[in-house]
Amino acid sequence: MDQLSPLAQIARRPALTDGFGRAITYLRVSLTDRCNLRCFYCMGKEVKFLPKAEVLSHEEMDRLCAAFIRLGVRKLRLTGGEPLVRHGVMSLIERLGARVAAGELDELTLTTNGTLLAKYAPALAAAGVRRVNVSLDTLDAATFSQITQRPGLADVLGGIDAARSAGLAVRINAVALAGINDAGFDSLIRWCGEHGCDLALIERMPLGGMPAAHYLSLDAVRRELAQRWTLTPADGDAGSGGPCRYWKVLETGRRVGFITPLSHGFCSDCNRVRVTCTGALVMCMAQPGDIDLRAALRGGATDEGLEAAIIAAIKDKPVGHQFNLGEAPGASQRMWQLGG
Ligand code: SAM
Ligand code: SF4
Repeated sequence: MDQLSPLAQIARRPALTDGFGRAITYLRVSLTDRCNLRCFYCMGKEVKFLPKAEVLSHEEMDRLCAAFIRLGVRKLRLTGGEPLVRHGVMSLIERLGARVAAGELDELTLTTNGTLLAKYAPALAAAGVRRVNVSLDTLDAATFSQITQRPGLADVLGGIDAARSAGLAVRINAVALAGINDAGFDSLIRWCGEHGCDLALIERMPLGGMPAAHYLSLDAVRRELAQRWTLTPADGDAGSGGPCRYWKVLETGRRVGFITPLSHGFCSDCNRVRVTCTGALVMCMAQPGDIDLRAALRGGATDEGLEAAIIAAIKDKPVGHQFNLGEAPGASQRMWQLGG
């Protein structure tokens, strides 16, 4: 009989590794396809949400996360749609947070549009969340509504304040959109400095049948910003398989990062996979070939059966994406279905 504790047994297992030798240690889980905003680059206007029965229950999500954790996942990011619009979301986050407290996970994080953060920030901190990414493309109310097709800038700003007050580290995510928010990057950098946040600028990706209109190469943006700000390379996520390359901004003391899937690939050290809210395992956001883990969950699979399905799927993780400025060939899902 194995005398090792459950934690020691987890630590002893070989990491989940794909066919190219990349260890998969990071899982992004979409809690819902629903959202209270309609960012034009993500959802567009015509959105048809899934029937509730298709979405995994809290129990199913927790069981799936537990299987990935047993297989070596150390970092879990919850996303959506907007994760905080999910009914009863805190009970699921508390369950997952307990896995951080138990040492099974290194980190539980969240990507949110921030509109509901004022309500949830203290509970998130109490559940063991230490960092959140908040999407905020602009500080201008009219531009915010132009992008999100909803009002709500004040709620997001209030949510960020609440998160900081609750002790959460906040990174602001802004999708760079030529002719829409690019005149506001200096203001965002300054505001992030004043509010103790890092900033990540993201290249718009072509997903879900939507070409990347307003695409802006962040190489050019960085060169332009460097004329007004003193930028020096900073470590950040480099080496952790994260796609964000950070620069320290001398004038603010914070970092600005650039996520550049189109102008630079970041696949060779990819350590992540995604699970949608329906339990589809997505090995690469820009490639076809999702694996239906809900069928295993609802079809009576044992924990070992579930793990075997995950291990087999991960072996086939594609080597890299095929983004270009048009549609990525396999990317039939939109960002709100993939979770970013
Ligand atoms: N609703 C949450 C939010 O907005 O942060 C979480 C889900 S959202 C899909 C996750 C991230 O994907 C956001 O930072 C959003 O800006 C980004 N995103 C959505 N569509 C995108 C696109 N076409 N290209 C690049 N980033 C995109
Ligand atoms: Fe909603 Fe986030 Fe997509 Fe905007 S980016 S529509 S907030 S899911």
